[in-house]
Amino acid sequence: MIDVNDIRHQFPTLHQEVNGHPLVYLDNGATTHKPQVVIDAISHYYEKLNSNIHRGVHFLSQQATDAYEASRETIRQHLNAQHLHEIIFTKGNTEAINLVANGFRQILQEGDEVLVSAMEHHSNIVPWQMACQSSSATLKVIPMDEMGVLDMDSYKNLLSDKTKVVAVNHISNALGTINPVKQMIQWAHEVGAAVLIDGAQAGPHCSIDVQDLDADFYCISGHKVYGPTGIGALYGKEEWLKKLPPYQGGGEMIATVSFDKTTYADLPHKFEAGTPNIAGGIALKTAIDWINQIGLDNIVSYEKELVDYATEELSKIEGIRFIGQAQEKAGVISFIVGDIHPYDMGMILDKLGVAVRTGHHCAQPVMDQFCIPGTVRASFAVYNTKEDVNRLVEGVIKAQTMLS
Ligand SMILES: *Cc1c(COP(=O)(O)O)cnc(C)c1O
Repeated sequence: MIDVNDIRHQFPTLHQEVNGHPLVYLDNGATTHKPQVVIDAISHYYEKLNSNIHRGVHFLSQQATDAYEASRETIRQHLNAQHLHEIIFTKGNTEAINLVANGFRQILQEGDEVLVSAMEHHSNIVPWQMACQSSSATLKVIPMDEMGVLDMDSYKNLLSDKTKVVAVNHISNALGTINPVKQMIQWAHEVGAAVLIDGAQAGPHCSIDVQDLDADFYCISGHKVYGPTGIGALYGKEEWLKKLPPYQGGGEMIATVSFDKTTYADLPHKFEAGTPNIAGGIALKTAIDWINQIGLDNIVSYEKELVDYATEELSKIEGIRFIGQAQEKAGVISFIVGDIHPYDMGMILDKLGVAVRTGHHCAQPVMDQFCIPGTVRASFAVYNTKEDVNRLVEGVIKAQTMLS
C-alpha cells in the first residue's frame, strides 16, 4: 500500500506555488523530483567524503570509492545482472546508447542491418544512424499501428541473418506503450542479433530482470528514477562488453600507458574514462533503495490506478483524442483536444500551476505517423494523486473553453 501523503512529504520541490496555484507536477517522463534522502546523499558526499575515487590510498578516497562501488552493486541487484563488472556508470541513457552504438561502428559492415522501432526516443535513433552512416550498414524501422503498438509480424519479417542489432525501448516515453521485449529479444537471438533495450521509462514503472529478458544491453537513467541528473547505468553482457572497443580514452580506463601502446583496464573501468559523477553515482543507490523500500510492485499498482482514473476522467472531455492506446501501458497519457495546439494547451495549464510536457517528446517520427505536431503529455510518478488528476482535467476543460 502507498501512503501518498507520507511520500509527498519527502519531496521538497512539490510544495510550492506556481503562478499562484499549488504545483501539480505531471512531467515525470521528462524527469522526476528527488526525495530528501537523495538530496541529502548528494550533500553528504560533498560535505564529508569529497575526494577522487579508485586512486587514493587515503581515508576519504577509500570511503568515496566504497560508496560509489556499493551503488554499482545495488544497480546490479536491481537489474538482476549476473556480474558486477557488467554494470557501467554513464551520464544517462543518451550516453549509454552512444557508448554501445559507437562500439558497433567497428563491428557493423556494409549490408548489415540495424532495427529500431517507430516509437523510439531520438537518443535511440540518432546514435544508430551515425553508426550506420560510418559503417555503411542499413537502418530499418519496426512499424507500429494506430494504437501505438509495434507490429510484431513486420518485426519478424524484418529479422534476418543481416540483422546485427535491434534497439528498442521497453516503455515508450511518448505513448506509454510497454513493448514485448522478452519476445523481441528471443526472436532477435534466433538470427544472431544483439539487442539493446532503452529502459529509461521502465526504470520507474516496472521491475527489470536482464537475465530473464536475456538482454544484451539494457540502460536506465538516474534522473527518471528519483535520482540525480547526469548519472545512469548501462548493463552489458560480459561477452559483448569484452568485444566492444572503449568509448572514450583517458584516465581510469587504462591498465598501462606508453607513447607506443596503451592497454585497457578490465571491465567495467574500460568504459569509464575520467572522473565520474561521484555524488550522482552514490545518490543513485539512495534513489534505488528508496524505490525498493516503497516496493516497485506497490508503485506499479498505484500508478496504474492513477492512469486508469485519469484516462476515465479525461475521456469525458469532448474532442479529446488519446495518442497511444495500447493494452499494455504505463505512466503516460498523451492526448490532443480538438484542433487546439498542444503548446497553447500547455501554456494555459502552466498558468494554472499544472506542469505537463507538450511537443514531440523527442520522438518526432511518432508525431509524424499520427500526423500531429505533438501531444500534451501527462506522465505520472508515485507522488501524484487523484487530486492532481482533477486539477489536470479542470485545466484542460478551462483551456478548451478559452481556446475554442
Ligand atoms: C529520457 C529518455 C531518454 C534519454 O535519457 P537521458 O538519461 O535523459 O539521456 C532516452 N529514452 C527514453 C525512452 C527516455 O524517456
